[in-house]
Amino acid sequence: MIVAMQDAASEDQIQHVIDQLVHMGFEVHRSTGASKTVLGGVGAQLDFDTREVEMMPGVQEVHRITAPYKLAGRNFRPEGTVVKFANGLEIGGKKVMVMAGPCSVESREQLFTVSELIAKAGAKALRGGAFKPRSSPYSFQGMGADGLKLLREAGDRFNLLVVSEVMEISQIDLMLPYVDIFQVGARNMQNFNLLRELGKIRKPVLLKRGIAATLEELLLSAEYLLSGGNYEIILCERGIRTFETYTRNTMDISAIPIVHKLSHLPITADPSHGTGRRDKVAPMALASVAAGADALLIEVHHQPEKAFSDGAQSLYPDQFAKLMDQLRMIAPAVGREIA
Ligand code: PEP
Ligand code: MN
Repeated sequence: MIVAMQDAASEDQIQHVIDQLVHMGFEVHRSTGASKTVLGGVGAQLDFDTREVEMMPGVQEVHRITAPYKLAGRNFRPEGTVVKFANGLEIGGKKVMVMAGPCSVESREQLFTVSELIAKAGAKALRGGAFKPRSSPYSFQGMGADGLKLLREAGDRFNLLVVSEVMEISQIDLMLPYVDIFQVGARNMQNFNLLRELGKIRKPVLLKRGIAATLEELLLSAEYLLSGGNYEIILCERGIRTFETYTRNTMDISAIPIVHKLSHLPITADPSHGTGRRDKVAPMALASVAAGADALLIEVHHQPEKAFSDGAQSLYPDQFAKLMDQLRMIAPAVGREIA
């Protein structure tokens, strides 16, 4: 941490700040120029709040230089994390995995139809919601346990990993036998009790960025999972709320290279929720892979106009197959392959 004192700061004020920093556990290095004193604090605690120092008399500004997370930081594993699955698939390596499926599991017929089509096109994971976090309590809330069973059956039939959203702690045990990846949705990114419980299990977690979360907050949420001992964490950029209303969210593609710089964790791009519009999903998916995404999450429905949720952003199966062909051309240009 760097503390710049005001030009007019008295020696007593400077000494007070030094004493407080030492008390907080910092080793303090002082440099005094013609008019200004700057203090460097080394050895911070992770949960340190710079505002505490900013409020001290005589302080002009305070800058944090180390991240508030440790396990999620790139330094913890400079080579990067690769999340591996039983069938040889992985996320975070050279190959980009495509996860696809309907927003919600609606029926056996729907799920099996979509699963077969996405598998044929080259998806490696089936993503479908059995528990749905809906903005309105009057909207379809998901099929629950029956949906999970269908997901597992379809996943096994078409050789697809199964990804589904967990909304609360009580669903974890119920879901364990059915899913390969637990999704934590945007609305639950800061449900810290849920994160703590998911930190205790030994199954991958796909952690979506909150609707208005900074990347630092996303990485702090990942830190909850990692600090419980679960190292199989995959992050997900799914668009953030901005002043733009043309798209459902603003797909923050810059989050992808930024996360790669700040963290060793792989990152998925979800252009379906990122744009909310079927016609904008493919360009954002291609751009995400070009930007370095380790996986994609794409909503697909065989009859989007009849979907129980997110029909407008769900691709038709032929659009998905075409996107897969385009992805196979883009990925090699940036040194990747589509799994
Ligand atoms: C979803 O993946 O269907 C979903 C609800 O996404 P998010 O949590 O990103 O809104
Ligand atoms: Mn959805």
